[in-house]
Amino acid sequence: FKERNEASAAGASYDIDLPQVGGPMVTRFPPEPSGYLHIGHAKAALLNDYFAHKSAGGTLICRFDDTNPSKEKMEFQEAILQDLKLMDIIPDKITYSSDYFQEMYEYALQLIQHGKAFADDSELGKGDEDRKNRLPSKRRDLGIGETLARFAEMKTGSEDGQRWCLRARIAYDSPNGTLRDPVLFRCNLIPHHRTGTQWTIYPTYDFCAPILDSIEGVTLALRTNEYRDRNAQYDWMQDALKLRKVAIWDFSRMNFVRTVLSKRKLTKIVNEGKVWGWDDPRMPTIRGILRRGMTVPALREFILKQGPSRNVLNLEWGAFWAVNKKYIDPVAPRYTAIAQEQAVHCQVHGFEGPANLSKPKHAKNLELGTKQVIYDSSIVLQHADAATFKQDEKITLMNWGNAYVRKITKDSSGDIITGLEIELISDSDFKKTKKITWLAAKSDNLIPVELVAFEHLVTKDKLEKDDVLENFLTPVTEFREQALADCNVAELPQGAILQFERKGYYKLDGLEKGNGSRMVFFNIPA
Ligand code: ATP
Ligand code: MG
Ligand code: MG
Repeated sequence: FKERNEASAAGASYDIDLPQVGGPMVTRFPPEPSGYLHIGHAKAALLNDYFAHKSAGGTLICRFDDTNPSKEKMEFQEAILQDLKLMDIIPDKITYSSDYFQEMYEYALQLIQHGKAFADDSELGKGDEDRKNRLPSKRRDLGIGETLARFAEMKTGSEDGQRWCLRARIAYDSPNGTLRDPVLFRCNLIPHHRTGTQWTIYPTYDFCAPILDSIEGVTLALRTNEYRDRNAQYDWMQDALKLRKVAIWDFSRMNFVRTVLSKRKLTKIVNEGKVWGWDDPRMPTIRGILRRGMTVPALREFILKQGPSRNVLNLEWGAFWAVNKKYIDPVAPRYTAIAQEQAVHCQVHGFEGPANLSKPKHAKNLELGTKQVIYDSSIVLQHADAATFKQDEKITLMNWGNAYVRKITKDSSGDIITGLEIELISDSDFKKTKKITWLAAKSDNLIPVELVAFEHLVTKDKLEKDDVLENFLTPVTEFREQALADCNVAELPQGAILQFERKGYYKLDGLEKGNGSRMVFFNIPA
C-alpha cells in the first residue's frame, strides 16, 4: 500500500511504498565497524530511522556487524556512532553481533546436530571453484560426529582447526549461488576489538543476520538489493532453526558518479595520503560531505525523496547539491570577497561619508540581521569586472550606489588595468547597470582569507570492478585562491555557511595556522 508520510525533518513529506507489517516497526541498521560511514550508508541508516520512527512506538536498532576482526576496529565503532549523531539519528538500541558469539556458536551446534551443517577443509579458493561449478564439496557427507569434532578443533584455534570452516548443507547445485552450502563459521586468530582472544571462530554475516534479526525482534529487515539472491538463504536459516520469520524489504544501493563507496578503496585513499583523512571534504563520508557544506535536512530530503527505490542508481552530485542549495540560500548571509591577485585599486571621487553603515546580511531575509559596510575614497574591486568597464560607463557599487567610470589606467601591454577612478552620483536607477563587488581599502576592512575549491577524487564516472583505482585518481583535486574579505567575516564562527556575493556559497572550515593566519573557506557546490 502507499502511504503519505510526514517526514520528521523540514516538514517535508515523502511517498514511500511500505510493506504492511502489523504493530510498531522494529528496524535495524547493521554497519560493520570497518570504516567511517559514507553517503551510501546514510541511505540505509536514514531509511531505517524513517521507518522505525514514522509512527510512535517504533525502535531503531544499530547493530554492529562485528564478526570479522581482520577488518574491524574500536576507532571505527566510535566513529560510526558519531556519524549517526551527525545525521541526527539516535538509535533506540545499540547492539553488537559479538555479544551473541556464544548463542551463534550454539545455533551452529544445533544445525550440526540436525544434519544441516558440515565441516569443510577445501583448500582456499578451491571451495569457491566447487561452488561456481555447482559441485559438492568433498566433505559434504561428513557425519555429525566428525563435524562436531572438527568444529571443536576450530574452536581451539589449532593449526589443524584453522584449515576448516563450517558450511550449511543446503543445495550445492542450486541455481541460486547463495544456497550452495554457504560458510557459517570460519577461524580467525586476530584479536577482536571487543572480545579479544576469547574466540577463534567467527560467524559470517549471512549466518548472523537472519538469526539476530529474528531474536532481536526486528519486524522489517531492510537490505540493499545486491542481497536479493540471499533472501532465500536468509529464510532457510530461520526455517532451519525454527526461528520467528522476519519480513525483508530491499532497496537499491546508492552510487554516485566519479565516486568510490567501497570501504576498502576509501581506506586506501586515506592511508596513501590522497586526502587529509576520513573527514576530508573530498571524501564521500558523512563527515566529508558535511564538512564540504552539506546540511542534514538536505541530506535527509535527498535520500528520502528517492525512497527505497529498486532502480540501480548512479547519481549526479549536482542533483544532491541542488537540494542543499534550496536549504542554504535563504539563510546564508552575504559577504564580499575579492581575489587578491585580481584586486584593482580604485579612487572614488565625490565621497563625503558616512564612514560606515549597517546593511542587511541578506536582502531577502532580514531576520539574519545586519553587517557593517565600510566606505572610503579608496577601494578595491575585481580585475575581471574592471576589464569590462568602458569610459564614462555607469556602474553600481553593491550596498553603495551608482558611479561613472572616469579613468582607466592600463599597463604598457594594454591588457592589465592598474588603476581606476570613478565618480559617485546620486542616481538610484539600478536596472541596467552592472552590479560590482568592492571593498574599502582600509587595513581593518581587508581580512585575508583562503577560498578552496575541490574536484572529484576519481576521473571515471563509474569504476568497474576490475579497474585499478590508482589509474583513475584525479591528479589535482584541491584549488586554493587567496582573497580579501570584508571585516564582518572576522566574527564568523567555525562551520558558518555563507555566500560571497557573485562568487558562491562557502563554509568556514577554520584558521590556517602560520602564513599570516588566514581564514579558510571551502566552496560549497551548488
Ligand atoms: P563494503 O564496503 O565492504 O561493501 P558495506 O558498504 O556493505 O561494506 P556495511 O557496514 O556492511 O558496509 O553497511 C552497512 C549498511 O549500509 C548495510 O545495510 C549496507 O547494505 C548499507 N549500504 C552500504 N553501502 C550502501 C550503498 N552504497 N547504498 C545503500 N546502502 C548501502
Ligand atoms: Mg557489509
Ligand atoms: Mg557490503
